[in-house]
Amino acid sequence: MLPICNICAKTKVLCASCETKLKNEEISELDVKIAQMMYDFGKGEFGFEKAVDVGDFVVVLTQKEDIGKIIGPGGENLRKMEESVGTHIKIMGASSAEEMIYTLIFPANIVSTSRLYLADGRVIKKITINKNDVDKLKMDLHSIKKIVSNLLHTDVEIVVG
Ligand SMILES: [Zn+2]
Repeated sequence: MLPICNICAKTKVLCASCETKLKNEEISELDVKIAQMMYDFGKGEFGFEKAVDVGDFVVVLTQKEDIGKIIGPGGENLRKMEESVGTHIKIMGASSAEEMIYTLIFPANIVSTSRLYLADGRVIKKITINKNDVDKLKMDLHSIKKIVSNLLHTDVEIVVG
């Protein structure tokens, strides 16, 4: 699956439905760009869920079994995508949103997860990780927070406890 439909990825022109998704910010320009490139690599045989720009690099979230195909022989596809996007890309895979969170936070332990109900009606997911594990994280907390928020379509607070 790609964030846009295969025809749009192939023709590089967005249909009304994909255009609406872009306008409503369900998908980003980055998703569109990467989807078009990935279609060229895989002809629709593999895809990704979402691309998230975390500042220093871009994370492409996908199914575990697609990681190797996305990277391509000798890393060729990945290199082309990085050139096009102009920054480093990390391909990360998991079979569910929950698993993705654990992948991002690994090897740190999650102490607890809870929901915070704010006065303005928003619901925030709060993830508490063990303070002794912070140094072991593969990414900074801000990046993890941004990726998880994007993935869950919810505001996420990552707390060290
Ligand atoms: Zn479309």
